[in-house]
Amino acid sequence: MLEAIKRLWSAGVVGNPVRLRRQIELCNQVALFGTVATIPYQIFYFFYDFALYRDVFLANLVFMTVYLLVLLLNHQRRYSVARNMLLVNACSQVFLVSFFISAGAGVHLFYFTLASILVFLFQSLHVLTYIAIMATFGMLYIIAHFVFSRSFVVAPVPSPWIDIMYAGSVLGALTLLSIFLYLFRKQIDQAEDELMLNNQYLETLSTTDPLTGLANRRVLDDTLAQEWARLARQPGALCVIMCDVDHFKLFNDCYGHDRGDRCLQQIAATLKSVLFRPSDLLVRYGGEEFALVLPGTDVAGGRHLGERLREAVERLNIPHAASNTSACVTISVGVSGVDHFSPDVSRSDVDSLLKCADQALYQAKGYGRNQVVFLPYPSAGASAGQ
Ligand code: GH3
Ligand code: MG
Ligand code: MG
Repeated sequence: MLEAIKRLWSAGVVGNPVRLRRQIELCNQVALFGTVATIPYQIFYFFYDFALYRDVFLANLVFMTVYLLVLLLNHQRRYSVARNMLLVNACSQVFLVSFFISAGAGVHLFYFTLASILVFLFQSLHVLTYIAIMATFGMLYIIAHFVFSRSFVVAPVPSPWIDIMYAGSVLGALTLLSIFLYLFRKQIDQAEDELMLNNQYLETLSTTDPLTGLANRRVLDDTLAQEWARLARQPGALCVIMCDVDHFKLFNDCYGHDRGDRCLQQIAATLKSVLFRPSDLLVRYGGEEFALVLPGTDVAGGRHLGERLREAVERLNIPHAASNTSACVTISVGVSGVDHFSPDVSRSDVDSLLKCADQALYQAKGYGRNQVVFLPYPSAGASAGQ
């Protein structure tokens, strides 16, 4: 049943952006409600005194037809015509019914409901148009309230029916309003949840290397800057390691790019498996280069870890027939670090520590690859300003 109703008010929504979809749905919902809410009144007019209420009955038939036409227009994707027609129809119906049976029935209370959903019904209503519509609602309400008294109207409804109708109008106007507000609330919650998920996804995308699943250089820069700042405040140790796969261009040339990618994934997983402190950070620094930041690790620990990283990759035993330095894939490792806060540290910037590790890596390449070289920080070539 609910599904069938949902299908009705979803007429014409498919293929539209979310915001427009909500507007079309709302337009359909109001049209459906207008049709359904008129039925009890029609039953009363018909059975109570059809001769007296014939005009209002026939007028309501026209209004109900127009509501259904609104659904049809939305189905035909003529959204703007449908919305305008709905607004004029609802406004006229409330006014005319009040005119026929008097304001005592409270039908004009629906102006409040209409006014409260107006901003959701139209996409970008100009503020002056908005004010004009509100003023029209207000004017029509006041006329209905003060002019359409029992003595004025042509087909007044006797007590207690008029009171029952008033109660029905109050209930209808409030129920409709709370249903719409509830739906909007849910939509806002849903939109917020989607936004949060998207943000998380984007955050992950912007900080993760897609090939290896490791963090990327952006995370390294942030972490290093944080650790450097911490070191200046609170003396301690910090090590940085740079690793570079040896003769990887030759590996790609020999085995193809896909095998090269898989090799990088294996190396990344292996390097990660060597780390055991949660604070240790491993990132893919560039193509076949990896970098590690090791907060709280002193120089001796850094050198030791560098050696373990090198050994672990060698132990993978990935054949490298094109290499002239080893039969399997190896890495060269450059290590640098500071054990204690010193004036040199406070004067230099964080990049100089990275440069120092890079220099050590360069030396490891020069010494024949597949080895670890340590350069104390600050080295002559890597200190600040160089
Ligand atoms: P060296 O021992 O001096 O480091 O030699 P190398 O060949 O490893 O160094 P070079 O910088 O000349 O080449 C790096 C190669 O790494 C070139 C590039 O094709 C490869 N590479 C970089 N990123 C990727 C990647 O994502 N996938 C694959 N398969 N190869 C990559
Ligand atoms: Mg390289
Ligand atoms: Mg290389």
